[in-house]
Amino acid sequence: MRITDINNMGGHLSTSRGIDATPGRAKEFGFKSYQIFTKSQMQWKAKPLNEETVKKFKDEKARNGNPVVMIHASYLLNTASSDPVLREKVRDGFTMEIERADQLGMELLTFHPGSFKDATLEIGIRNVADMLNDVLRKEQNVMVLIENSAGQGNSVGKSFADIARIIDLINYKDKLGVTIDTCHTWAAGYDFSKEDGYGSMIDEIKETIGMGQVKGFHFNDSKKGLGEHTDRHEMIGKGTIGVQGFKYLISDKNFRNIPMIFETPRGEDGYMDDIKALNELLK
Ligand SMILES: [Zn+2]
Ligand SMILES: [Zn+2]
Repeated sequence: MRITDINNMGGHLSTSRGIDATPGRAKEFGFKSYQIFTKSQMQWKAKPLNEETVKKFKDEKARNGNPVVMIHASYLLNTASSDPVLREKVRDGFTMEIERADQLGMELLTFHPGSFKDATLEIGIRNVADMLNDVLRKEQNVMVLIENSAGQGNSVGKSFADIARIIDLINYKDKLGVTIDTCHTWAAGYDFSKEDGYGSMIDEIKETIGMGQVKGFHFNDSKKGLGEHTDRHEMIGKGTIGVQGFKYLISDKNFRNIPMIFETPRGEDGYMDDIKALNELLK
């Protein structure tokens, strides 16, 4: 058995050859899911999608086994911020991401909640929820996912309890889920590389956000240590988490159909090595 037969594996793919080239590229890796940016991740503006590209992309997606596509929202969308000028831009930028996702028929849109800077965690959580209530629409198809954070600086979302507090405040809860980034989880202090640690993390997920809210994973090992609150991705099995933590996740039946997407440092050049490291675990 190979990991790509059992789990819903994927990787972040480049759109340098066009969005419509990505489904074929995913298939070359055996991916059943993948992630892209639909616009430059460091810019506010984007050229509108042209209809021909949208159609070509949808045809290619259907032709290549209809993989689940997760869009990674721009890093500029700091929903936790209290700055009114910034919030106006974030509201427009986030709305654009949702519209583009729906135009392309993408299933998932993940975003980093961001940082509350010199405010408090309370205010940060409230700001994220207010922003989501402003941008989520009853009619939208794409599901928006809150990504957990490494806990760097004053970032929101380092614990499942904090993410649950955001979700509690949301009007359209059926449009919302959670992405668990393994590197961030580790950096935030959850030791899921051991059996008891994995078990207590799952218990905490059940008691806070609920298992059903987990709609995606980012599969990354970590260059930095457990609980160091530093977000540095590493190739699977080459970092401080090691392969064992990933073994619990890929063998957990609850997560069998959930996209598990690599965002490892060598990108497309390294995914075959990441897949190999996980295949070893299945032997
Ligand atoms: Zn991530
Ligand atoms: Zn990260």
